[in-house]
Amino acid sequence: MNGKINGWDEDELVCPHCKDEDLVLPTHIRNSTVLLIGEFPGDEEIKHGRPFVGATGSVLKTELARVGLDIRQFSLANLWIHKPNSNKACLEYGITKIIQIAKGKTAILLIGSDVVGYFVDEKVSQVNGLEVKSPYLSAPLIMACIQPATVFHQPLGELRLTLSKFAKKLKEITK
Ligand SMILES: [Zn+2]
Repeated sequence: MNGKINGWDEDELVCPHCKDEDLVLPTHIRNSTVLLIGEFPGDEEIKHGRPFVGATGSVLKTELARVGLDIRQFSLANLWIHKPNSNKACLEYGITKIIQIAKGKTAILLIGSDVVGYFVDEKVSQVNGLEVKSPYLSAPLIMACIQPATVFHQPLGELRLTLSKFAKKLKEITK
């Protein structure tokens, strides 16, 4: 068998460092201009082998649709390609894949405290909804966003505000 999953070769579907086979690699969407980066795959994501499926992804999908954005047209990734562990090499391996697919994107949304912490070295609570700079990524628009799962115990307002700002900026730079 020599199939491809999410655009990756089959032999890439095992972590070379810990040999974990439950990988959720970033999705390559041809011609996508936007990349969303979440924290780590949950059980649903591992089951389907895709980032942003499951409860959190569903909130994000709905909220993006409210501001006129279709998550199906975006490339999707997680900071961790498998459940987080203490092996820094695993984290770095996933990040090289993110950097690979981030090239040439118009906009990148960094979602959640671990992602914002890693790429921007800031607390997400300080930069939520703001444009940020990252030493690892370059795109005309990089924005920090709180973890959508917070809406399960907090009001939706903050997330909505961030996503509407993201949509507005994206429209401005792509028109
Ligand atoms: Zn690993």
